[in-house]
Amino acid sequence: MPSKVYFGTARQSRLEAKETLPAKLDLILENLQIRQRVKDEMVVIKMHTGNNIGYSTIHPVFVRRVVQAVKDGGGKPFIADVNWDVAGAETRGYTQETIGCPIYPAAGPDEKYYYEYEKPFKSIQKWKLAGMIHDATFLINFSHVKGHPSCGFGAAFKNLALGCMAGETRGDMHRAMHFDQYWFPEKCPDAETIQKIAASCPFEAIVEDKKRPGQMHLHMEQCNQCGRCLKVAPPGSLKIDASNFYTFQEACAISTSITLSTFDPKKVTHLSLATHMTPVCDCFGFTSMPILPDVGIFGSDDIIAIERAVLDATAGMRLIEENLPLAMEVHSRAGHPFQQLHGPLKDPYLVTEYGEKLGLGSRDYELVDILPLEKVERSALQYIPSK
Ligand code: SF4
Repeated sequence: MPSKVYFGTARQSRLEAKETLPAKLDLILENLQIRQRVKDEMVVIKMHTGNNIGYSTIHPVFVRRVVQAVKDGGGKPFIADVNWDVAGAETRGYTQETIGCPIYPAAGPDEKYYYEYEKPFKSIQKWKLAGMIHDATFLINFSHVKGHPSCGFGAAFKNLALGCMAGETRGDMHRAMHFDQYWFPEKCPDAETIQKIAASCPFEAIVEDKKRPGQMHLHMEQCNQCGRCLKVAPPGSLKIDASNFYTFQEACAISTSITLSTFDPKKVTHLSLATHMTPVCDCFGFTSMPILPDVGIFGSDDIIAIERAVLDATAGMRLIEENLPLAMEVHSRAGHPFQQLHGPLKDPYLVTEYGEKLGLGSRDYELVDILPLEKVERSALQYIPSK
């Protein structure tokens, strides 16, 4: 049976509050039966509280409604996020007064409160799950949909995969992208050619490793796989390869599976807000112009289903290229808009494929529009001259 994904569109038929997204979030919470499920539960609402002067994270109006639903149902809600985002969350509007519950650093203020899980994957041996996530009995995964430089986009998976792990594991997940060898120094012993390779990249994505002369370092986040460096590099010396990029997606699926394994599957739900979708992650500490039109809000108990519903809803949209920072480049218009922006090897669907292999849910979903748009009928126009 397909997993249900409840959806409220950002569009309105009429200028009425009941047709706007906070009211549609209420309907989604009703459909997910949040109030009936949280009695006496310690409910962690995992969200990204942003950083620095970003203003496109989930507005407190939405967060407060989720908190209130949990309180109505007799649950004990708290927000959790990584320590460096929680410190300063009040400057972006998140306080106990505005959202109605405390905000805690997920792994403690100095990232020392975690539980270790052994699950070797490439260069990662142990995964450090944040203690406040581990200790909660019910999880509401409330994500903001946006682009992401490591994997094309971030939403339900990324909110858990990175946000529920202590800092050391977050670093390990990014470093794992370098596990598969991509630079073969014996094929390029010439220092001048190394300089030419670095100079060929307009994004400073490939650079000589200052501590290890003769070795090159690829900043995967900055690389949009344009191939310019490959024109300069001697044959076989440099690979811009799927394995490095896919590693991050697989690591996100593994990390998410560890977090979800600590909850009763009936005590997990996911909400994704697809509005003001920026080119990069909310942790960058600023808000850029939106790169896609607002879509709406989604809710489901199935993380694969909700992630795919969000991706399918945005797949046919036109990337708003006129809103991109000038330093970014779109060199291919094939694939999902997030892929067009971040490069062909950053396929946003991959994380759901890895997640499905780990048994985290189903890509087979039914989209339930909780308040479909009503057709607005108009009679024929009458021409009225302006003068
Ligand atoms: S593929 Fe393009 S973006 Fe990536 S390192 Fe090479 S030149 Fe830079």
